[in-house]
Amino acid sequence: MIITPSNYQPEPDLLKHRNILVTGAGDGIGREAARSFASYGATVILLGRTLSKLESVYDEIVSAGSPEPIIHGFDLKESREEPYIELANAIATELGPLHGVLHNASILGQRTPIENTVASAWNEVLQVNLSSGFLLAKHLIDVMRDAEDASLVFTSSGVGRQGRAYWGAYSVSKFGVEALTQILADELGDTSNIRVNCINPGGTRTAMRQAAYPAEHPASNPLPEALMPTYLYLIGPDSCGINGQSVDAQ
Ligand code: NDP
Repeated sequence: MIITPSNYQPEPDLLKHRNILVTGAGDGIGREAARSFASYGATVILLGRTLSKLESVYDEIVSAGSPEPIIHGFDLKESREEPYIELANAIATELGPLHGVLHNASILGQRTPIENTVASAWNEVLQVNLSSGFLLAKHLIDVMRDAEDASLVFTSSGVGRQGRAYWGAYSVSKFGVEALTQILADELGDTSNIRVNCINPGGTRTAMRQAAYPAEHPASNPLPEALMPTYLYLIGPDSCGINGQSVDAQ
């Protein structure tokens, strides 16, 4: 684990001429990351399952005068490979090289003892939080190789490092994310221009946090905006050479 530059001050054109995919771009941390990456010059591919939310992020980015983003409606419950191949082909054709991927989307699933967990609910969490990351990486690596440097950032959690009762599938999925990060970083580190890291946002004021901790006062956690220095650092070229790390945003 490395200490991240919480006082990192990116150059205004940090992400100019860079194409970056953000999953779960319609809400919470992903929404803020998409807006932030665009404000530093990136053309952002907004991937998510609720089109109205993606359209609202699109409008905000365009109104701010940032590069026009691209909306890609996609449900990460999808386990077939074809839609991931189509996504990679569309990016290569319409945009060219892919400089960054923030795989941020996830679901909490059931929070209950393992013995009460419904198998289909377990599988859905593993698909959305972990297996979709494998499929995205598998099919996007090729278009990332075309970039001068590229950053693949997965999203972990505190329960991805230490298991906790009742966090079942979510916790296991995040342990898997940590492993996928390390494996890809080891595979790509010496053989490509692609660095692979994961980020643990820490408690952040979003709908997911509210659902996980309904008794907590929302204001006790920072807004997603406060985490953006770390997200910008990892997704942009200033983090070249950082590979295989699990980074805390707070
Ligand atoms: P939110 O629930 O606020 O946002 C999650 C986003 O993922 C939403 O845009 C949601 O879409 C999207 N999403 C969920 N399922 C799918 C799917 N099947 N296909 C496509 N998109 C999907 O979560 P946060 O912003 O809080 O969390 C972001 C990341 O940070 C997650 O990986 C989470 O595990 C991690 N994290 C968050 C913490 C926190 O305190 N907030 C703490 C530790 C980790 P839609 O809007 O349509 O529902």
